[in-house]
Amino acid sequence: MGEKVSIILTSYNKPHYLQNAIESVMKQTHDLWELFIMDDHSNEETTAVIHKYLHDRRIRYQNSFIHPAERLKTTRYATLINAALPFTDGDYISYLTDDTVYHPERLSRMVQTFSDKPEAQAVYSKQKVIHVNERGEEISHFYRNANAVLDQAAFQVDHCSVMHRRSLLDRIQHKYGSYWDDDMKHWNHGDSIFWARINNFAPFLPINEVLDTTYKTPDSFQNAYRFLPADLIDGSFVKGSDQNVYFLDQDVRHPVGERWGSLYLNRTVAVPDPYLFQYKIGKFLNIPNYILVKEADHPAIFYIEAGKKRRIVDQYAFQFYQFKRKDILTLEKEELEALPEGIPITRDRSGLIENPPGRRLFFIEREPFLFLNGVFHPMSEQVARKFFLHHKPIPASFRNIQQFPIGKPFYPVYDEIIKKLNISTD
Ligand code: UDP
Ligand code: MG
Repeated sequence: MGEKVSIILTSYNKPHYLQNAIESVMKQTHDLWELFIMDDHSNEETTAVIHKYLHDRRIRYQNSFIHPAERLKTTRYATLINAALPFTDGDYISYLTDDTVYHPERLSRMVQTFSDKPEAQAVYSKQKVIHVNERGEEISHFYRNANAVLDQAAFQVDHCSVMHRRSLLDRIQHKYGSYWDDDMKHWNHGDSIFWARINNFAPFLPINEVLDTTYKTPDSFQNAYRFLPADLIDGSFVKGSDQNVYFLDQDVRHPVGERWGSLYLNRTVAVPDPYLFQYKIGKFLNIPNYILVKEADHPAIFYIEAGKKRRIVDQYAFQFYQFKRKDILTLEKEELEALPEGIPITRDRSGLIENPPGRRLFFIEREPFLFLNGVFHPMSEQVARKFFLHHKPIPASFRNIQQFPIGKPFYPVYDEIIKKLNISTD
Protein backbone atom coordinates (compact mmCIF):
# COMPACT_ATOMS: atom_id res chain seq x y z
CA MET A 1 0.00 0.00 0.00
CA GLY A 2 2.10 2.85 -1.25
CA GLU A 3 -0.63 5.40 -1.40
CA LYS A 4 -0.40 8.66 0.42
CA VAL A 5 -3.18 10.44 2.29
CA SER A 6 -3.19 14.20 2.92
CA ILE A 7 -5.07 15.08 6.07
CA ILE A 8 -6.20 18.63 6.77
CA LEU A 9 -6.87 19.32 10.44
CA THR A 10 -8.52 22.64 11.32
CA SER A 11 -7.95 23.91 14.82
CA TYR A 12 -9.35 26.61 17.00
CA ASN A 13 -8.99 26.82 20.77
CA LYS A 14 -9.62 23.24 21.81
CA PRO A 15 -6.19 22.27 23.17
CA HIS A 16 -7.15 19.02 24.88
CA TYR A 17 -9.24 17.71 22.04
CA LEU A 18 -6.69 18.85 19.50
CA GLN A 19 -4.00 16.77 21.16
CA ASN A 20 -6.19 13.69 20.84
CA ALA A 21 -6.91 14.49 17.21
CA ILE A 22 -3.21 14.75 16.36
CA GLU A 23 -2.40 11.61 18.34
CA SER A 24 -5.09 9.74 16.44
CA VAL A 25 -3.29 10.51 13.20
CA MET A 26 0.07 9.47 14.67
CA LYS A 27 -1.47 6.11 15.60
CA GLN A 28 -2.75 5.24 12.11
CA THR A 29 -1.78 1.76 10.95
CA HIS A 30 -1.36 3.16 7.43
CA ASP A 31 1.66 5.36 7.89
CA LEU A 32 2.00 7.05 4.52
CA TRP A 33 0.30 10.33 5.34
CA GLU A 34 0.96 14.02 5.69
CA LEU A 35 -0.89 16.17 8.19
CA PHE A 36 -1.61 19.87 7.71
CA ILE A 37 -2.45 21.49 11.01
CA MET A 38 -4.27 24.67 10.03
CA ASP A 39 -4.64 26.72 13.17
CA ASP A 40 -7.03 29.64 13.13
CA HIS A 41 -5.09 31.91 15.47
CA SER A 42 -5.80 29.97 18.64
CA ASN A 43 -4.71 30.82 22.15
CA GLU A 44 -1.24 29.90 23.43
CA GLU A 45 -2.38 26.75 25.15
CA THR A 46 -3.46 25.41 21.77
CA THR A 47 -0.35 26.43 19.84
CA ALA A 48 1.77 24.90 22.61
CA VAL A 49 0.10 21.55 21.90
CA ILE A 50 0.82 21.90 18.18
CA HIS A 51 4.48 22.71 18.76
CA LYS A 52 5.00 19.41 20.56
CA TYR A 53 4.46 17.60 17.27
CA LEU A 54 6.32 19.74 14.79
CA HIS A 55 9.48 17.64 14.98
CA ASP A 56 7.59 15.01 12.96
CA ARG A 57 8.42 15.69 9.33
CA ARG A 58 5.05 14.47 8.13
CA ILE A 59 3.37 17.34 9.97
CA ARG A 60 3.03 20.84 8.56
CA TYR A 61 1.63 23.77 10.45
CA GLN A 62 0.20 27.09 9.47
CA ASN A 63 -1.28 29.78 11.68
CA SER A 64 -3.83 32.02 9.97
CA PHE A 65 -3.19 34.96 12.34
CA ILE A 66 -6.72 35.99 11.49
CA HIS A 67 -7.78 39.32 12.95
CA PRO A 68 -10.92 39.09 15.14
CA ALA A 69 -12.76 41.54 12.91
CA GLU A 70 -12.10 39.34 9.86
CA ARG A 71 -13.16 36.09 11.49
CA LEU A 72 -16.84 36.49 10.77
CA LYS A 73 -16.34 37.13 7.10
CA THR A 74 -15.92 33.56 5.89
CA THR A 75 -16.60 30.01 6.99
CA ARG A 76 -13.25 29.68 8.64
CA TYR A 77 -12.55 25.98 8.34
CA ALA A 78 -13.37 26.14 4.63
CA THR A 79 -10.97 29.06 4.20
CA LEU A 80 -8.25 27.12 6.03
CA ILE A 81 -8.85 24.00 3.98
CA ASN A 82 -8.63 25.99 0.75
CA ALA A 83 -5.31 27.41 1.94
CA ALA A 84 -3.92 23.92 2.59
CA LEU A 85 -5.18 22.05 -0.46
CA PRO A 86 -2.71 23.51 -3.00
CA PHE A 87 0.16 22.16 -0.87
CA THR A 88 -1.15 18.62 -0.54
CA ASP A 89 0.51 15.90 -2.52
CA GLY A 90 -1.39 12.82 -1.38
CA ASP A 91 -3.35 10.55 -3.66
CA TYR A 92 -6.27 11.02 -1.28
CA ILE A 93 -7.59 13.90 0.80
CA SER A 94 -9.21 13.61 4.20
CA TYR A 95 -10.49 16.21 6.66
CA LEU A 96 -10.31 16.34 10.42
CA THR A 97 -11.65 18.79 13.01
CA ASP A 98 -9.94 19.36 16.32
CA ASP A 99 -12.75 17.73 18.31
CA THR A 100 -12.63 14.42 16.44
CA VAL A 101 -10.39 11.36 16.50
CA TYR A 102 -9.73 8.93 13.69
CA HIS A 103 -9.76 5.28 14.68
CA PRO A 104 -6.38 3.60 14.01
CA GLU A 105 -7.64 1.64 11.00
CA ARG A 106 -9.30 4.59 9.33
CA LEU A 107 -6.75 5.43 6.66
CA SER A 108 -5.93 1.84 5.87
CA ARG A 109 -9.60 0.81 5.50
CA MET A 110 -10.36 3.76 3.25
CA VAL A 111 -7.26 3.38 1.09
CA GLN A 112 -8.06 -0.32 0.80
CA THR A 113 -11.57 0.49 -0.39
CA PHE A 114 -10.18 2.74 -3.11
CA SER A 115 -7.83 -0.03 -4.27
CA ASP A 116 -10.65 -2.55 -4.27
CA LYS A 117 -12.92 -0.18 -6.20
CA PRO A 118 -10.93 1.78 -8.75
CA GLU A 119 -14.09 3.58 -9.87
CA ALA A 120 -14.62 5.07 -6.39
CA GLN A 121 -13.99 8.79 -6.10
CA ALA A 122 -15.23 9.41 -2.57
CA VAL A 123 -15.89 7.15 0.40
CA TYR A 124 -17.39 7.74 3.83
CA SER A 125 -17.66 5.73 7.00
CA LYS A 126 -19.88 5.40 10.05
CA GLN A 127 -19.26 7.90 12.82
CA LYS A 128 -19.77 7.86 16.55
CA VAL A 129 -20.98 11.20 17.92
CA ILE A 130 -20.55 11.82 21.65
CA HIS A 131 -22.16 14.73 23.45
CA VAL A 132 -20.06 15.83 26.40
CA ASN A 133 -20.62 18.35 29.20
CA GLU A 134 -18.27 21.18 30.27
CA ARG A 135 -16.05 18.71 32.08
CA GLY A 136 -15.71 16.53 28.98
CA GLU A 137 -17.88 13.74 30.41
CA GLU A 138 -20.19 11.86 28.07
CA ILE A 139 -23.86 12.82 28.27
CA SER A 140 -25.13 10.73 25.35
CA HIS A 141 -24.05 9.33 22.01
CA PHE A 142 -25.41 8.23 18.67
CA TYR A 143 -24.12 6.98 15.32
CA ARG A 144 -24.22 8.42 11.84
CA ASN A 145 -24.66 5.44 9.61
CA ALA A 146 -22.84 4.57 6.44
CA ASN A 147 -24.84 1.92 4.65
CA ALA A 148 -25.91 3.49 1.37
CA VAL A 149 -24.30 4.82 -1.76
CA LEU A 150 -25.04 8.53 -1.56
CA ASP A 151 -25.79 10.68 -4.58
CA GLN A 152 -26.60 13.45 -2.14
CA ALA A 153 -24.22 13.28 0.76
CA ALA A 154 -24.99 16.82 1.96
CA PHE A 155 -26.47 16.83 5.48
CA GLN A 156 -25.86 13.10 5.70
CA VAL A 157 -22.14 12.78 6.20
CA ASP A 158 -19.85 14.55 8.63
CA HIS A 159 -16.76 16.58 7.82
CA CYS A 160 -14.47 13.95 9.38
CA SER A 161 -15.95 10.80 7.82
CA VAL A 162 -14.90 11.33 4.19
CA MET A 163 -11.93 10.57 1.97
CA HIS A 164 -11.80 11.53 -1.68
CA ARG A 165 -9.33 11.25 -4.52
CA ARG A 166 -7.13 14.27 -4.97
CA SER A 167 -7.86 14.22 -8.68
CA LEU A 168 -11.41 15.42 -7.97
CA LEU A 169 -10.03 18.75 -6.82
CA ASP A 170 -9.08 20.00 -10.28
CA ARG A 171 -12.51 19.20 -11.61
CA ILE A 172 -14.17 21.03 -8.72
CA GLN A 173 -11.87 24.02 -9.09
CA HIS A 174 -12.60 24.10 -12.80
CA LYS A 175 -16.35 23.98 -12.37
CA TYR A 176 -16.75 26.24 -9.33
CA GLY A 177 -13.68 28.43 -9.31
CA SER A 178 -12.73 27.27 -5.81
CA TYR A 179 -12.43 24.07 -3.78
CA TRP A 180 -14.56 24.64 -0.67
CA ASP A 181 -17.14 27.41 -0.73
CA ASP A 182 -16.16 29.51 2.28
CA ASP A 183 -19.11 31.92 2.10
CA MET A 184 -20.03 32.95 5.62
CA LYS A 185 -23.62 31.79 5.25
CA HIS A 186 -22.43 28.17 5.17
CA TRP A 187 -20.67 28.27 8.53
CA ASN A 188 -22.91 25.62 9.96
CA HIS A 189 -22.75 23.28 6.97
CA GLY A 190 -19.75 24.16 4.78
CA ASP A 191 -18.83 20.49 4.52
CA SER A 192 -22.24 19.70 3.05
CA ILE A 193 -21.77 22.37 0.40
CA PHE A 194 -18.49 20.71 -0.58
CA TRP A 195 -20.05 17.25 -0.62
CA ALA A 196 -22.64 18.60 -3.07
CA ARG A 197 -19.79 19.73 -5.30
CA ILE A 198 -18.24 16.27 -5.15
CA ASN A 199 -21.62 14.72 -5.87
CA ASN A 200 -21.61 16.52 -9.19
CA PHE A 201 -18.94 14.10 -10.28
CA ALA A 202 -19.38 11.00 -8.15
CA PRO A 203 -21.41 9.31 -5.41
CA PHE A 204 -20.05 8.59 -1.93
CA LEU A 205 -19.46 4.89 -1.29
CA PRO A 206 -20.15 3.63 2.24
CA ILE A 207 -17.82 1.80 4.60
CA ASN A 208 -20.10 0.50 7.29
CA GLU A 209 -17.62 0.64 10.15
CA VAL A 210 -17.11 3.29 12.78
CA LEU A 211 -13.83 4.91 11.75
CA ASP A 212 -14.03 8.19 13.63
CA THR A 213 -15.49 9.58 16.83
CA THR A 214 -16.47 13.19 17.14
CA TYR A 215 -17.19 15.11 20.32
CA LYS A 216 -19.88 17.72 20.61
CA THR A 217 -18.86 20.06 23.39
CA PRO A 218 -21.27 22.58 24.94
CA ASP A 219 -19.57 25.27 22.85
CA SER A 220 -19.30 23.39 19.59
CA PHE A 221 -20.89 25.17 16.70
CA GLN A 222 -23.89 22.93 16.56
CA ASN A 223 -24.68 23.42 20.21
CA ALA A 224 -24.05 27.10 19.91
CA TYR A 225 -26.54 27.39 17.03
CA ARG A 226 -29.10 25.18 18.73
CA PHE A 227 -32.20 27.07 19.92
CA LEU A 228 -30.56 30.31 18.91
CA PRO A 229 -32.91 33.17 18.04
CA ALA A 230 -32.04 35.65 15.30
CA ASP A 231 -30.85 38.15 17.90
CA LEU A 232 -29.09 37.57 21.18
CA ILE A 233 -31.03 38.61 24.26
CA ASP A 234 -30.02 41.81 25.99
CA GLY A 235 -28.63 41.32 29.47
CA SER A 236 -27.13 37.87 28.83
CA PHE A 237 -23.69 36.61 29.68
CA VAL A 238 -22.26 35.15 26.48
CA LYS A 239 -19.03 33.58 25.31
CA GLY A 240 -17.54 32.54 22.01
CA SER A 241 -15.01 29.85 21.37
CA ASP A 242 -12.15 31.65 23.10
CA GLN A 243 -14.20 31.29 26.32
CA ASN A 244 -14.00 34.98 27.25
CA VAL A 245 -17.24 36.00 28.92
CA TYR A 246 -19.07 39.18 27.93
CA PHE A 247 -22.16 40.90 29.23
CA LEU A 248 -24.47 42.05 26.43
CA ASP A 249 -25.93 45.45 27.01
CA GLN A 250 -27.74 47.44 24.31
CA ASP A 251 -25.78 45.84 21.48
CA VAL A 252 -22.42 46.26 23.17
CA ARG A 253 -20.52 43.38 24.75
CA HIS A 254 -18.73 44.27 27.93
CA PRO A 255 -15.83 42.14 29.13
CA VAL A 256 -16.65 40.95 32.66
CA GLY A 257 -14.28 40.65 35.56
CA GLU A 258 -13.91 38.09 38.31
CA ARG A 259 -16.09 40.20 40.53
CA TRP A 260 -19.17 38.91 38.72
CA GLY A 261 -17.92 35.33 38.56
CA SER A 262 -20.72 34.00 40.75
CA LEU A 263 -23.23 35.57 38.38
CA TYR A 264 -22.00 34.22 35.10
CA LEU A 265 -20.51 30.92 36.19
CA ASN A 266 -23.64 28.90 35.56
CA ARG A 267 -25.42 31.13 33.13
CA THR A 268 -23.12 31.95 30.29
CA VAL A 269 -24.58 31.18 26.89
CA ALA A 270 -22.12 29.70 24.36
CA VAL A 271 -22.81 31.42 21.04
CA PRO A 272 -21.18 31.13 17.61
CA ASP A 273 -18.34 33.55 17.06
CA PRO A 274 -20.00 35.22 14.07
CA TYR A 275 -22.90 36.18 16.35
CA LEU A 276 -20.62 37.49 19.02
CA PHE A 277 -18.53 39.52 16.64
CA GLN A 278 -21.57 41.47 15.51
CA TYR A 279 -21.47 43.30 18.83
CA LYS A 280 -18.76 45.81 19.42
CA ILE A 281 -16.63 45.47 22.51
CA GLY A 282 -17.33 48.04 25.20
CA LYS A 283 -15.79 49.02 28.47
CA PHE A 284 -15.12 46.68 31.32
CA LEU A 285 -18.39 45.79 33.06
CA ASN A 286 -19.26 48.01 35.99
CA ILE A 287 -22.57 46.87 37.54
CA PRO A 288 -24.60 44.63 35.24
CA ASN A 289 -28.23 45.36 34.52
CA TYR A 290 -31.00 42.97 35.53
CA ILE A 291 -29.60 42.00 38.91
CA LEU A 292 -31.04 42.34 42.40
CA VAL A 293 -28.96 44.34 44.84
CA LYS A 294 -29.00 45.79 48.33
CA GLU A 295 -26.48 47.26 50.71
CA ALA A 296 -25.26 45.24 53.68
CA ASP A 297 -27.04 47.07 56.50
CA HIS A 298 -30.20 48.22 54.81
CA PRO A 299 -33.25 46.16 53.94
CA ALA A 300 -34.20 47.98 50.70
CA ILE A 301 -33.90 45.80 47.60
CA PHE A 302 -33.30 47.22 44.13
CA TYR A 303 -33.41 45.86 40.61
CA ILE A 304 -30.83 47.35 38.27
CA GLU A 305 -32.10 48.41 34.88
CA ALA A 306 -30.61 50.78 32.30
CA GLY A 307 -27.97 51.71 34.84
CA LYS A 308 -30.58 52.86 37.37
CA LYS A 309 -31.71 51.31 40.63
CA ARG A 310 -35.39 50.52 40.83
CA ARG A 311 -36.62 49.98 44.36
CA ILE A 312 -38.86 46.98 44.82
CA VAL A 313 -41.45 48.58 47.01
CA ASP A 314 -42.76 45.61 48.96
CA GLN A 315 -42.72 41.88 49.44
CA TYR A 316 -45.84 41.61 47.34
CA ALA A 317 -44.10 43.04 44.26
CA PHE A 318 -40.97 41.01 44.99
CA GLN A 319 -42.89 37.75 45.01
CA PHE A 320 -45.17 38.59 42.12
CA TYR A 321 -42.22 39.16 39.80
CA GLN A 322 -40.70 35.87 40.93
CA PHE A 323 -37.57 37.33 42.46
CA LYS A 324 -35.63 35.12 44.85
CA ARG A 325 -33.74 36.28 47.91
CA LYS A 326 -30.77 34.06 47.06
CA ASP A 327 -30.19 36.15 43.93
CA ILE A 328 -29.64 39.37 45.86
CA LEU A 329 -26.10 40.70 45.67
CA THR A 330 -24.65 43.04 48.25
CA LEU A 331 -23.09 46.25 47.00
CA GLU A 332 -21.07 48.87 48.84
CA LYS A 333 -23.18 51.70 50.21
CA GLU A 334 -21.30 54.25 48.07
CA GLU A 335 -21.77 52.19 44.93
CA LEU A 336 -25.50 51.93 45.44
CA GLU A 337 -25.80 55.60 46.29
CA ALA A 338 -24.00 56.55 43.10
CA LEU A 339 -26.69 54.90 40.97
CA PRO A 340 -29.56 57.13 39.84
CA GLU A 341 -33.05 56.17 40.94
CA GLY A 342 -35.34 54.52 38.42
CA ILE A 343 -39.09 54.01 38.56
CA PRO A 344 -39.95 51.83 41.58
CA ILE A 345 -41.27 48.33 40.98
CA THR A 346 -44.76 47.97 42.32
CA ARG A 347 -47.60 45.53 42.14
CA ASP A 348 -51.09 46.82 41.49
CA ARG A 349 -53.74 44.77 43.25
CA SER A 350 -56.10 45.26 40.34
CA GLY A 351 -53.89 42.96 38.23
CA LEU A 352 -52.87 45.68 35.78
CA ILE A 353 -49.18 45.49 35.03
CA GLU A 354 -47.39 48.79 35.19
CA ASN A 355 -43.65 49.38 34.75
CA PRO A 356 -42.74 45.74 35.14
CA PRO A 357 -39.07 44.82 35.60
CA GLY A 358 -37.22 44.06 32.38
CA ARG A 359 -35.83 40.71 31.26
CA ARG A 360 -38.49 38.81 33.19
CA LEU A 361 -40.39 35.91 31.73
CA PHE A 362 -44.20 35.96 31.71
CA PHE A 363 -46.86 33.41 30.96
CA ILE A 364 -49.50 35.34 29.14
CA GLU A 365 -52.48 33.08 28.79
CA ARG A 366 -50.04 30.18 29.06
CA GLU A 367 -47.68 31.37 26.33
CA PRO A 368 -44.17 32.48 27.33
CA PHE A 369 -43.20 36.12 26.70
CA LEU A 370 -40.12 38.03 27.67
CA PHE A 371 -40.53 41.62 28.79
CA LEU A 372 -37.56 43.60 27.52
CA ASN A 373 -37.10 47.33 26.96
CA GLY A 374 -40.80 48.10 27.16
CA VAL A 375 -41.95 45.34 24.81
CA PHE A 376 -43.38 41.85 25.32
CA HIS A 377 -41.62 39.36 23.06
CA PRO A 378 -43.08 35.93 22.39
CA MET A 379 -40.40 33.40 23.31
CA SER A 380 -40.04 29.65 22.96
CA GLU A 381 -39.31 27.71 26.12
CA GLN A 382 -36.17 26.30 24.54
CA VAL A 383 -34.81 29.78 23.96
CA ALA A 384 -35.72 30.70 27.53
CA ARG A 385 -33.80 27.68 28.79
CA LYS A 386 -30.81 28.35 26.56
CA PHE A 387 -30.58 31.87 27.97
CA PHE A 388 -30.99 30.68 31.57
CA LEU A 389 -34.28 32.46 32.13
CA HIS A 390 -35.05 29.98 34.85
CA HIS A 391 -37.51 31.69 37.14
CA LYS A 392 -41.13 30.66 37.27
CA PRO A 393 -42.96 32.69 34.61
CA ILE A 394 -45.11 35.54 35.92
CA PRO A 395 -48.77 34.84 35.14
CA ALA A 396 -50.71 37.54 33.33
CA SER A 397 -53.46 38.01 30.78
CA PHE A 398 -53.41 40.05 27.58
CA ARG A 399 -55.77 42.50 29.29
CA ASN A 400 -53.24 43.05 32.06
CA ILE A 401 -50.55 44.04 29.61
CA GLN A 402 -52.61 45.79 26.96
CA GLN A 403 -50.68 49.04 27.25
CA PHE A 404 -47.52 47.35 25.95
CA PRO A 405 -46.65 46.44 22.36
CA ILE A 406 -45.97 42.83 21.37
CA GLY A 407 -42.53 42.72 19.73
CA LYS A 408 -40.61 40.34 17.50
CA PRO A 409 -40.43 36.82 18.82
CA PHE A 410 -37.40 35.00 20.18
CA TYR A 411 -37.75 31.67 18.42
CA PRO A 412 -34.97 29.27 17.33
CA VAL A 413 -33.92 29.92 13.75
CA TYR A 414 -31.28 27.30 12.96
CA ASP A 415 -32.93 24.15 14.16
CA GLU A 416 -34.42 23.14 10.83
CA ILE A 417 -30.93 22.84 9.38
CA ILE A 418 -29.66 20.91 12.38
CA LYS A 419 -32.63 18.54 12.24
CA LYS A 420 -31.69 17.55 8.71
CA LEU A 421 -28.46 15.99 9.94
CA ASN A 422 -28.88 12.25 9.77
CA ILE A 423 -29.20 11.20 13.36
CA SER A 424 -29.72 7.55 14.20
CA THR A 425 -29.67 6.06 17.66
CA ASP A 426 -28.49 2.51 17.08
N1 UDP B 1 -12.89 26.60 13.42
C1 UDP B 1 -12.00 27.49 12.85
N2 UDP B 1 -12.10 28.81 13.16
C2 UDP B 1 -13.06 29.30 14.00
C3 UDP B 1 -14.00 28.38 14.55
C4 UDP B 1 -13.89 27.04 14.25
O1 UDP B 1 -11.10 27.07 12.11
O2 UDP B 1 -13.10 30.50 14.23
C5 UDP B 1 -12.79 25.17 13.09
C6 UDP B 1 -12.72 24.26 14.30
O3 UDP B 1 -11.37 24.14 14.73
C7 UDP B 1 -13.23 22.96 13.76
C8 UDP B 1 -14.25 23.39 12.71
O4 UDP B 1 -13.98 24.77 12.44
O5 UDP B 1 -12.20 22.24 13.13
C9 UDP B 1 -15.67 23.22 13.18
O6 UDP B 1 -15.89 23.92 14.41
P1 UDP B 1 -16.64 23.26 15.65
O7 UDP B 1 -16.03 21.95 15.97
O8 UDP B 1 -16.68 24.26 16.73
O9 UDP B 1 -18.09 23.05 15.04
P2 UDP B 1 -19.20 21.88 15.22
O10 UDP B 1 -18.54 20.65 15.69
O11 UDP B 1 -20.20 22.39 16.19
O12 UDP B 1 -19.80 21.76 13.86
MG1 MG C 1 -16.89 20.09 15.99
